[in-house]
Amino acid sequence: MAKQLTGDDLHELLKEQALLEENMALLSWDQLTGMPVKSGEFRAELMAYLTKRYLKVTTGKKAKALLDYYQLPNNQSTLSIDDQALFQRFSHDIKYVINVPADDYIAFERLKIMAQDAWAAAREKNDYAIFKPYLEKLIHMTKQLIPLWQTDEQTPYDVLLGQYEQGLTTKKLDSIFNQVKQGLGALQQELQLNGETPDNQFLHRSVPKGLQLRYIQPTIQRLGFDFERGRLDDTVHPFMQDMNRNDARITTRWSDRDFKMAVLGLFHEAGHGMFAQNVDSKWDYTPFNKGIAMSIHESQSLFNEVIIGQDEAFWYHEYPKLQDIFGDVLADISFEQFYDGWMKTEPTLIRTEADPLTYPLHIIIRYEIEKAIFNDDLDVSELPALWREKYRTYLGVVPEDDVTGILQDIHWADASFGYFPSYALGHLYAAQFRYAMNKELDISSLLQSGDYQPLIDWRRNHIWQYGASKSPSDILLTATGEPLNPNYWLDLQRKRYEKVYQVKVD
Ligand SMILES: [Zn+2]
Repeated sequence: MAKQLTGDDLHELLKEQALLEENMALLSWDQLTGMPVKSGEFRAELMAYLTKRYLKVTTGKKAKALLDYYQLPNNQSTLSIDDQALFQRFSHDIKYVINVPADDYIAFERLKIMAQDAWAAAREKNDYAIFKPYLEKLIHMTKQLIPLWQTDEQTPYDVLLGQYEQGLTTKKLDSIFNQVKQGLGALQQELQLNGETPDNQFLHRSVPKGLQLRYIQPTIQRLGFDFERGRLDDTVHPFMQDMNRNDARITTRWSDRDFKMAVLGLFHEAGHGMFAQNVDSKWDYTPFNKGIAMSIHESQSLFNEVIIGQDEAFWYHEYPKLQDIFGDVLADISFEQFYDGWMKTEPTLIRTEADPLTYPLHIIIRYEIEKAIFNDDLDVSELPALWREKYRTYLGVVPEDDVTGILQDIHWADASFGYFPSYALGHLYAAQFRYAMNKELDISSLLQSGDYQPLIDWRRNHIWQYGASKSPSDILLTATGEPLNPNYWLDLQRKRYEKVYQVKVD
């Protein structure tokens, strides 16, 4: 008879995985913040070594023994409820690894590292051609991996979507995105035809990085980010990397002529960090402390950036502080002028700089392109043209070069195909959380008085503490009482923009 296993055996393996993941996370944070440019190949070697170790743990004898043993319902029922959930997550995640030959897996990881460097070099030279061969290889390899990952998904792209949110499909997204496109279209038309367009020139006045930091750092602390369990660094493409709940690192880029970028960018990353810092300690060293469904993670960064960071009551409280720190820069701008300018909506070429109204369109563009690559075999050489065409159609703007076009996101260099929709879903989830929260708390009064703690506590209790132990639909249902409904997002935006643009949409 095979050896009897216990929950301790499961935890031992999960901890080994978690420690290796933490190691790799630290290295990849370092690669994107301070690593010397020439050490790329050495870093790729080190990552390949750790990936090999990770694979050994994840697909080795112990892992297989755990899989075999706990796949039997009688054995699984001897685990605690928490451990049963952990085992199910473990067996789901393992499918992305265990079916892939080790050499292919390592080659893929190595290619991603090289592709990220090529992407950075391509951006520097503003030349897609430098990145194109790597992107081609990444897509080619991903297409080879899809059948190995596939279980009951209907299309190849559904397999990729499932990596970031279990059960997400093109069918669901097509329907949600259509609803969003329709609602947005009507509102945008009204704003363009009859709206009072606010002036936001003052947002481009020169503010040195030091002054921006003096406002932002204490503000994200008041919003809930703990600097004793996190840090802030500069990077090219902002992100948050958490090692564990006591080490969540946020990053940003700065522009002297665009303080709004760093303010909202850091509200955003701090939201990710706050989520990571507040996961229940019982999930330490388990996958529930990692890989939290991306859409829910995004909803928390967007809660800071959009729900709070674009709220009139919030700025009513914050604007005097901002004015004070920025010295003369905003002395002649009244609160009303500031808030209206802050909310001005206009199509941009860069996704990360888009306002909440146009943002989902940037995602829909990427979603449709990825769907075409994986479900319709679109050729990589057609990408720049398709990119331009979709930007013209959806946003009415056309990039003149690669840096403001197809080279702007790092995601494809990391083979994170299927990730983008999480951003749009995050917007929709965030608005639905706000709606539910507002039934218990008077959000406007709290924001206006600068008392952010109840908003922090609500999110910790209803969302953050669970980490990845609940599915996005579960968490949405328990926190808000209903499944995803894009109307909360559409209603919130409509209300805000009707006021700023002085229009009324029927
Ligand atoms: Zn984010």
